[in-house]
Amino acid sequence: MFSTLHTNDAASSITRLVDLGLERYLVTSTLAGAMAQRLVRTVCPHCAEDHYLEPDQIKTLMLSVPPGKRVKVKSGSGCFECRGTGYFGRTGIFEVLAINDLVKQLILEGADASKIKREAVTHGMRTLRQSALRKLAEGVTTYEEVMRATSL
Ligand SMILES: [Zn+2]
Repeated sequence: MFSTLHTNDAASSITRLVDLGLERYLVTSTLAGAMAQRLVRTVCPHCAEDHYLEPDQIKTLMLSVPPGKRVKVKSGSGCFECRGTGYFGRTGIFEVLAINDLVKQLILEGADASKIKREAVTHGMRTLRQSALRKLAEGVTTYEEVMRATSL
């Protein structure tokens, strides 16, 4: 069964269930995973142009870029096709939290959402922000959309 909750990220949906009164052991024994998703606008293919992230944008995104290297991205300059917006359509970004033994243990211990998220990331979970950064690096979406749709 799938169900929907409105939370900031996948880990928060776990703690939300507990806040709603579900017993922790029931959450760990019945939940297979939690997925967070958002939409980001995609760069208009008709007026897309290459450019480079500004140093302060790289800093804001906390990207580690080797000295002398630049990060190439795309954005739309605006055209008839996109009615001057530079965007054409939208795409999904995702974060999947598998309820594995580690996460089960954290839930049973009463860990908060940020701790669950931190541990999951340490063990390979790709966050919404990371999913959005991948779309940025691919030239699919823009820096502005990454900042609008995701937080750290
Ligand atoms: Zn356009």
